[in-house]
This record gives sequence, structure tokens and C-alpha cells, in this order.
Amino acid sequence: MTHLDAYNRPISYLRISVTDRCNLRCVYCMPPEGVPWRPHEEILRYEEIEIVVRAAAELGISKIRLTGGEPLVRLGFVDLVRMLARIPGIDDLAMTTNGILLSRYATALAEAGLRRVNVSLDTLRPERFHRITRLGRMEDVLAGMEAARRAGLEPIKINTVVIRGMNDDEVVDFARKTMKAAWNVRFIEMMPVGNGVLADGGWRERVVTGKEIRQRIEAALGRLEPAKVSAGNGPARYYRLPEAKGTIGFITPISEHFCYRCNRLRLTADGQLRPCLLSDQEIDLRTPLRQGADVAQIKTLLLKGIEVKPMQHHLDEWKRPENRVMSEIGG
Ligand code: SAM
Ligand code: SF4
Repeated sequence: MTHLDAYNRPISYLRISVTDRCNLRCVYCMPPEGVPWRPHEEILRYEEIEIVVRAAAELGISKIRLTGGEPLVRLGFVDLVRMLARIPGIDDLAMTTNGILLSRYATALAEAGLRRVNVSLDTLRPERFHRITRLGRMEDVLAGMEAARRAGLEPIKINTVVIRGMNDDEVVDFARKTMKAAWNVRFIEMMPVGNGVLADGGWRERVVTGKEIRQRIEAALGRLEPAKVSAGNGPARYYRLPEAKGTIGFITPISEHFCYRCNRLRLTADGQLRPCLLSDQEIDLRTPLRQGADVAQIKTLLLKGIEVKPMQHHLDEWKRPENRVMSEIGG
């Protein structure tokens, strides 16, 4: 049975960061030199993650998303997927990836029991892709998306963080993509979590609101009609252009927060349960796990996390998380 938190929200979703490491250095997420990686022994082992997921499943959490850092850089990641896919009660197992290594692993992931992927792609221009991610090649991501489609990891959702002066001139190009192909593009408002362009303190000026993006798309391509995407019940609101094959979603943590319908908990790569992405409150699961805690004991800690989940974030009061960067929490 799904548990309700103190504000009557059913908690049905756990996001797990499986590593803090990444093969890219996106400007809104990391500084150019990266962040110091945590030593291996601080990162939860796959067997430990499995215990947490078993406990979560027994509490009615049926949806798991694996994220990072970049999940595909962790050795043996396909084995983790296989372990988690077998757990009774988990009926949606998904991953968020930057897509760079996806073409190599898509088939194996689908065979291991992964259901679908979200791929991050902030630009459709190869040269700009390199400027935003600092290390990557856009062609690899597109090949990864194609491999995921062929492997049946669908619906594929594309996450696009929109940053003024960096890629906001492409929102119409992304929207146009949804006309002919079944792309599900989700525009995300940039949050003040991380480094890079945010370090100069100018993040607010860089945020492009969902409303502004929508206006730009409608001015160029016509009215957006509300739409449904078959999998997931996350924070995005979906729309469709007339006759379009794909959809356009908006994730608006800054301009129109969705905390009142938040259904999730998060687990950091080093084993801290985080009831809210944007609050520094954490419950240590790694220490008890290493002292031999079983599923029942972890369930008690997860319940505590559900109990203390805050009502909403406080970015509007300029309060931002202090103790973590995005790659450790997993977005
Ligand atoms: N490396 C994987 C990827 O990029 O998809 C998974 C981890 S990444 C932290 C998860 C998501 O968070 C990505 O879609 C990324 O674009 C988004 N993200 C990272 N930093 C962000 C920020 N400051 N504001 C909004 N979204 C952010
Ligand atoms: Fe890596 Fe994802 Fe952060 Fe980009 S957003 S640096 S791909 S963790």
C-alpha cells in the first residue's frame, strides 16, 4: 500500500543516484574541472541499493528511476538493472542518462528489464552541444536515442534545460522536432543547484520560464493542446502541437512549483535518503546498511523520510541547497 506523507501526498517514486561521476561537465551542473568524486567505498554497493529498493517496494513505492552523475559510467550497471527489475512490486524501472554511452548499452538494458529512458539534450547544434557539455558529442546522444528506440525503451523523453543566452533560441527548433517524430521534449527551468553558470550568482537572469517558452512556441508554430504521455506521473505538464507526433512538456520548479503533487524520495550516491531535492535534510541509510540493517529496518528509515518530507521548496526565498551538487543527488 502506498504511504501518504504529512501533507497527504502518496509517495510512490524513488530516484536513485548510482554514481556521482560523469563523463560530461554540463555548464549548469558542474565546473569545468568537475567536482571531486567521492571515494568508491562511500558509494552504495549494488547489494545495498537492492535492499533499499526491496524496502521501498514493500512500502508501495512502485516506480524507480536510476540516475547520477551518469549511470552508464558505473561498472556493472546492467547487473544492477537486472537485480532491481526482479523485485516484486517494482513496475516501472527507468533511467535518466546523458545518452553518450546509450548506443552501447541499450539492448542489454532492455533485456535486463529497464523499461524506458529519459535522455538529456539541451541543443540540436553539435558545436553548441560541445560548449554546453564541455566534453560530449551530440552525434553519440542521437545514436543512443535511436538505439533506445530500437530496443523498445519507450517512450523516450528528452530533458532540455533552457538557459537564457545559451540555448533559449532553440526552443522552437525543439518543438518543431515533435511535429514529425515522436519526440517527447520536456523543457526544464534551470535550478540553482550546482556550479558553472550559477556560480556567478546570476542564475535568476538565466532562467527562462515555462510560460515564456510556451509563448515563443505558440507564436511560431500554433496553439499547444493538452496531451498525455503514456508512462510516468512526474512533474511535467504535456502539450501537443496540432497534428504533431510527439509532445512538449514543461517542468517549472522555479515559476510554478509542483511540490503539492510531489510523489518522490531520493537516494544520493553515498546512501543518504533525501526527502526533497531542494532541502538539505537527509537520513543516513549507508551506516545502518553497513551495520547489517535488513529490509525491515530500512523500511522504518524510509517511513521516517516520508514523514519528514517538507511541504515545498524555498527557492523563492533564495534558499538553495548548500551541501550537494546536482550530480550527487541525481536531479
Ligand atoms: N547525467 C544524467 C543526465 O544528465 O541526464 C543524469 C543526471 S542529471 C543530474 C539529471 C537531470 O538533471 C538532467 O536532465 C539534467 O539536465 C538536469 N539538471 C542538472 N542540473 C540542473 C539544474 N541546475 N537545473 C535543472 N536541471 C538540471
Ligand atoms: Fe553529467 Fe548529467 Fe550533470 Fe551533465 S547534467 S554534468 S550529464 S550529471
